[in-house]
Amino acid sequence: MLFPQNKRRHYRAALTKTERAVASFNESDALAVVHLGDIIDGVKECGIVSTERTYKDLRRVLSVLSHLRKPLLHVLGNHCVLLERESLLTTLKIEKPGYYYRNLSSMWRLIVIDTVDVSLNRDRRHPHFAEARDYLQAHRGEPHAKLWNGGLGAKQTRWLEQILARTAADGRFAVVCGHIPIVEEASESEGVIYGHKEVEKVLAAHGCVKAYFSGHHHAGGYAHKGGIHHVTFEGIIDADDDNGAFALVELRKDKIVVRGRGTMTSRALQIG
Ligand SMILES: [Zn+2]
Repeated sequence: MLFPQNKRRHYRAALTKTERAVASFNESDALAVVHLGDIIDGVKECGIVSTERTYKDLRRVLSVLSHLRKPLLHVLGNHCVLLERESLLTTLKIEKPGYYYRNLSSMWRLIVIDTVDVSLNRDRRHPHFAEARDYLQAHRGEPHAKLWNGGLGAKQTRWLEQILARTAADGRFAVVCGHIPIVEEASESEGVIYGHKEVEKVLAAHGCVKAYFSGHHHAGGYAHKGGIHHVTFEGIIDADDDNGAFALVELRKDKIVVRGRGTMTSRALQIG
């Protein structure tokens, strides 16, 4: 299958590549493994998502990931939420409502945000469905105002502001992980979160966020803005390397070292 960027996607081979990534993580001294979203593509029958077939796909991936001997942290992607959200959160063991944080060390806090909290892929009766519909109407014609993107919403934004204020007050550094990129420079104008300018301001406000890690834009990308390293990790299904695309990330006081495997880009990101 070919997609707009003329990149072939290797759906079936992704499972074998994931097995290799799991083996590599198990051999490493990684504290945790983060999956950056879109664990499934979503199987459609006559234009409607087949829950049964999509769950079958999800179970296949989770069976490979069950061999991981590290804590596994999931980030919700726009394809993930093609499945009903409540049961998906339970299956993936994601804390409700879908965003959370973990202290990785005395210095580093990992904050996971849900960039599809406001999305059309929600129960139509949920207020975030209406919020997504209104946002798309208000921003019609803007490149990122796409059905497949999403946003945080007011409640999650408040939570993020609070946790970042606390992180700064504790003298900690934060790395924030979400599925959809926040700045166009690390993605493309179509591939950023709803309300991206506002979210960018929230992340930069306290000075404690050193990096934002995302997926969604399969080609990957990078930008340094407002003191934050925005890293968009390359997609495993596009990887034409037997090792796929994954990375080991070392969080240090003075820099973040990304050691890419397969088609994943390696980077040394200085912390100012
Ligand atoms: Zn995505």
